[in-house]
Amino acid sequence: MTLKRQITRLPRDTGVTGWNAILGPAPSYPEAEGDISADWLVIGGGFAGLSAAKRLCELRGGDRIVLLEAARIGEGPAGRNSGFMIDLPHELSGDGYAGSAEGDRLQINLNRHAQNFARSCAAEYEMPAEAVSPTGRINGAVNARGEAHNNAYAAQLDTLGEAHTKLSASEMAEMTGTDTYRSGLFLPGAVMLQPALYIREMAAGLASREKSPVSIFEASPATGFSREGERWKVTTPKATVTAGKIVMAVNGHAESFGFFRQRLMHVFTYASMTTALNGEQQVRLGGLPAWGITPADPMGSTVRRHTGIGGSRIIIRNRWTFDPSMEVDAARISRFRRDHEKAFRRRFPMLAGVDLEYSWGGRLCLSRNSVPAFGEVEPGMFSACCQNGLGTAKGTLAGIGAVELATRSNSPIVQDLLSYDAPVKLPPAPIAKLGATLVLRWREWRAGAEI
Ligand SMILES: Cc1cc2nc3c(=O)[nH]c(=O)nc-3n(C[C@H](O)[C@H](O)[C@H](O)COP(=O)(O)OP(=O)(O)OC[C@H]3O[C@@H](n4cnc5c(N)ncnc54)[C@H](O)[C@@H]3O)c2cc1C
Repeated sequence: MTLKRQITRLPRDTGVTGWNAILGPAPSYPEAEGDISADWLVIGGGFAGLSAAKRLCELRGGDRIVLLEAARIGEGPAGRNSGFMIDLPHELSGDGYAGSAEGDRLQINLNRHAQNFARSCAAEYEMPAEAVSPTGRINGAVNARGEAHNNAYAAQLDTLGEAHTKLSASEMAEMTGTDTYRSGLFLPGAVMLQPALYIREMAAGLASREKSPVSIFEASPATGFSREGERWKVTTPKATVTAGKIVMAVNGHAESFGFFRQRLMHVFTYASMTTALNGEQQVRLGGLPAWGITPADPMGSTVRRHTGIGGSRIIIRNRWTFDPSMEVDAARISRFRRDHEKAFRRRFPMLAGVDLEYSWGGRLCLSRNSVPAFGEVEPGMFSACCQNGLGTAKGTLAGIGAVELATRSNSPIVQDLLSYDAPVKLPPAPIAKLGATLVLRWREWRAGAEI
């Protein structure tokens, strides 16, 4: 029987992502129109999709590659995250961050492979240094519970032989300007991205090479697909794209394509970015021009100071919601902006007069058993989805892995991604929503001052 499906639910991103806004107008790519033929069709222009396109260029130099992005490059979740590309185990769905030693070592090696991939793309495409900077991060502890989390994490890192440095309250204050943190754990292996800049530059690098085999189309959502003989036919509002193989790199929207139904958890988290600090405000703040703090309690606030294009700014991310609709409204963003404001004012009382300029929310996709939604889902259609909240590294790996699987390379990434069970089924929708919401609220309450 010929497979034919309509995709009725398309991505919607709410709020203006500061990371993209501070860069100024983005290069634009055309909307797909008419009949287009390619060897490969990549759907989705985030970490997974752009990494897949890059890996295809490396492995299949002569093939024609088309990439469809529903929105604008840099506007989706890939351009609205906090930019921590983390090498170490960082299990968001568990109570702490670390798992078994053997599994952790494998994950560290693979995450470092993703970091090296990003670094080599940055070098090849001559990205500004702030797009990918190997400056490390700090796991910051606000209260005793956070400190206990950090101690347990440090013990696990000792077992793994991974470098880390404990920071006292005064060292934390010296580095960041805030005396909120009673201690910290410096983890040198994290790579910090300016996420929207990295995504923009990846797309520009792929599309602008002379005789580039990659054609990128924006505002061109895949709205349906069918299998015709040996080829796939994908429709967009104004085009029909036929291709031999498809890489589906749409994270949670795999479910909108009819795959992994009732197995993916659609979660949102929220962030705000301040106005650019003027010279006098920077002096009042003190500390280094750039740093990144992940919360010792996974439900706490992520806080960054970033200095580069658009000035020196502070970015706060907190709050989680479970939204199977995959959409949130502007009222939600305004509500959580107030939580960002509180977390910001509490940490930076010396920055009275500095406002939050941009606030936004973004989708993540988790599975209940923390596994990817990866593999050949139909003949010639490869899924690189469900990054379990850590898509800067995991999305990069999934995109590379989908291409390596499709080109029959049995790489360590493919072996790892194929080694997991399938995402387990969720309870019926109302129970899943209620259960997940209660767990999130309880964990947020327990995180207390870490938020
Ligand atoms: C506020 C926030 C902070 C975060 N912080 C971090 C962090 O510090 N570190 C980290 O690792 N992760 C973080 N994340 C998670 C990270 O952003 C995601 O895991 C990552 O973006 C997933 O990458 P991806 O390429 O798989 O999917 P996405 O980035 O979601 O890209 C998928 C793309 O597919 C497009 N698409 C969907 N449907 C269609 C269609 N029908 N046709 C065409 N295109 C389509 C979408 O528009 C989208 O651009 C954060 C997320 C948020 C929201």
